[in-house]
Amino acid sequence: QQQRILTIGLGAMGAVLARLLTEKGEKVTVWNRSEAKAKPLTAIGATYTADIAKAVAENDIILICLLDYVATEQVLAGVSLEGKTIVQLSTGTPQDARLMAAAFSARGAWYLDGAILATPSQMGTEQTPIFLSGSPQAWAGAEAALRILGGTLIYLGEAPGAASAWDIAALSSMFGMMIGFLNGARIIESEGMRVTDLGTMIRDIAPVLGQMIKDTGDDIEQKKYDSPQSSLDICAGTFDLIVRLSAENKLDDGFATFAQRLFRKGLDAGYGQERISALMKTLR
Ligand code: NDP
Repeated sequence: QQQRILTIGLGAMGAVLARLLTEKGEKVTVWNRSEAKAKPLTAIGATYTADIAKAVAENDIILICLLDYVATEQVLAGVSLEGKTIVQLSTGTPQDARLMAAAFSARGAWYLDGAILATPSQMGTEQTPIFLSGSPQAWAGAEAALRILGGTLIYLGEAPGAASAWDIAALSSMFGMMIGFLNGARIIESEGMRVTDLGTMIRDIAPVLGQMIKDTGDDIEQKKYDSPQSSLDICAGTFDLIVRLSAENKLDDGFATFAQRLFRKGLDAGYGQERISALMKTLR
């Protein structure tokens, strides 16, 4: 018998999740605080149920994509969750996930915490990454439906906080690079050149950057700090240069001084002749 899926939350992301499932022929019910957002989905075959308790009761898999965990608690307050497979796809912290897993399990649900590392227009492809963690029963029950939303499903085991930790760590890596890019873009712009060419060049060397990140991750794991190709001394010098360039070109130096301070801490701790992985010791 076909599983009945309820999608709670029809914002930019939730609406896409509901649409992809409906288009694949799944039996989809939708719920949203403001009813108007359900229209485009009922138009393609989804059902709208205004009463949230009834909507949950009539479905097997409950996908949640609301603003956050607080909104989720508000929406599901007093609703029976007994025997339901719940997949929380709103973004939160590992602690949010642990607390919700405990609370919803106590209410009789199988709870899977999920995190989507993609924008709405990137959903539904082989490459779309979704991290999941929590109840193995919920994972087994929801996997097929989730695969419609993203082909790169990574189940990280039973600890409910794992998916969110991966998500936030990945966002930290991504936006860290993005802020570095914006700072670089200001440098290019202030020298009268085209930012678009910088973007193209960074895209083209992305595999090399990715390999450097991977190597540093391996070094940290293996406590490998010695025999650097580029010593921390040399890397730190990069930020002394960017700080000086910022002054010369009258640019905001917030990014550069933040990084300079971090590197200097590493040097003060005596890691000047070690690899960049040694900065992890400073951060700890
Ligand atoms: P939107 O702002 O577009 O939608 C927010 C949704 O939450 C709406 O359905 C809104 O209802 C609902 N909502 C907010 N507060 C409440 C409340 N107190 N009670 C009931 N419903 C509430 O956000 P997105 O769809 O973009 O994001 C949803 C989640 O998905 C977030 O956690 C986000 O981090 C995550 N996500 C989003 C990505 C993106 O690129 N957009 C990427 C990856 C994850 P209403 O329509 O009535 O206002």
